[in-house]
Parts: sequence; structure tokens; C-alpha cells
Amino acid sequence: MSGGTGNLFVIAAPSGAGKTSLTRSLLEREPELKLSVSYTTRPPRPAEREGVDYHFVTPQRFMELKADGEFLEHAHVHGNWYATSSSWLKGQVTAGHDVLLEIDWQGAAQVRRLLPDSVHVFILPPSLESLERRLVGRGQDDEATIARRLDAVREETRHCREFDYVIINQQFASAVDDLAAIVRTARLRAVQQCVRYKALIAQLT
Ligand code: 5GP
Repeated sequence: MSGGTGNLFVIAAPSGAGKTSLTRSLLEREPELKLSVSYTTRPPRPAEREGVDYHFVTPQRFMELKADGEFLEHAHVHGNWYATSSSWLKGQVTAGHDVLLEIDWQGAAQVRRLLPDSVHVFILPPSLESLERRLVGRGQDDEATIARRLDAVREETRHCREFDYVIINQQFASAVDDLAAIVRTARLRAVQQCVRYKALIAQLT
């Protein structure tokens, strides 16, 4: 992804930590940030839309896309396949756009290996009880799915040290501020600023 000056942000969290709401708020505040739409073999939830929340594909189509090299990373999460589009991402970052990936820890580890400059953020709920409440309260998954997701929380959380930043989603507004601060800091990195302000630096040197 050399050539462009776009930042790649990777956000992961256990289910129910509030990642989707936080990301939505961050995107409202930072409209320049482009959210990657993943591929998944999971069936759509009632309110989800094709091409907006996910590209919903059959397992067969998923494997075809994988064989074609269309995925930057892919992972099996809670019984379904998920993947990030490589061609879309490369296009965005090369054009200088900042991109956000909402993916699991396995995908984050793959992205880290491929793109070491990516900025990785892990979001934690303030407690196990709050996480359970959110999972049940959103009423989107059946009991077995919720139980499976709660089992996965321990595994997911164990990987938080592999991330650059950890945000506790205790006060929503403050967690959004934290996310925005990370985005702002990344944009100030010298390697990018020196490309953006090449003319100024040339004039001053
Ligand atoms: P959900 O089915 O609740 O939308 O997502 C389940 C999990 O899959 C979440 O942890 C979400 O971050 C993760 N996920 C969503 N898209 C991708 C992706 O493209 N790659 C990977 N590795 N994980 C993803």
C-alpha cells in the first residue's frame, strides 16, 4: 500500500462491547474515514442491508473469491466466514483515504503482518454483566448464538495485548473521544505529514 498516505485503522472487540455504535459515531465525526464492508457467509440480520453492512455471500462464493486472491484477510468467527476485500482497500488507501476495518482478532493479526503501519484498537466493555446485557438486549441472536458468543469473549479478550490501543467503553461519549484522538494522532505521523506538506518543507529547508 505504498504510494498513498491513507491510514488503516483496525478495530476489534468482543461481541457486545459496543464496537458498532462507537464506529458509527466516529464515522459521523470523521466523515473522511471510509468503512470497509466485509464479505460474510452469515445470513443477514433483519435490519442489515447487502453492500452496506456486509456483502452476504454463499460459502461457495466465499471460497471462489478467496481462491481469486480477493481477500486481504479472512477468518472463521462464531461459525461463519468473514473477509476483507483487498482490491477495495488498496484502492482507498492508495487514493489517500483513511480506512477503518471492523474485524476480529484473527483478521487483525493477519493485517498486522501484511501492513505493519496499520493502527490497531481493541475495545473492551466495562464489565462482563454489561456485555451480557447488550447481547441479550439487542434481540438479534438466539440463545445458542448468544451462549457461543459469550464463550468467545474470553478468547477474544486474551488477544487485547496484540493491539496498539485499548479503549474501555464505559462512557460512550468518552470512548468516542478516545477513538477520535487515536485517528487524529495517526494523521499527524511524520511519515505522512512530510508527504502532505512536501512543498512547505521544501520551502523551509
Ligand atoms: P457479526 O456477525 O456480529 O457482524 O460479526 C462477528 C465478528 O466478525 C465480529 O467480531 C466482527 O468484527 C468480525 N468480522 C466482521 N467482518 C470481518 C472481516 O472482514 N474479517 C474478520 N476477520 N472478522 C470480521
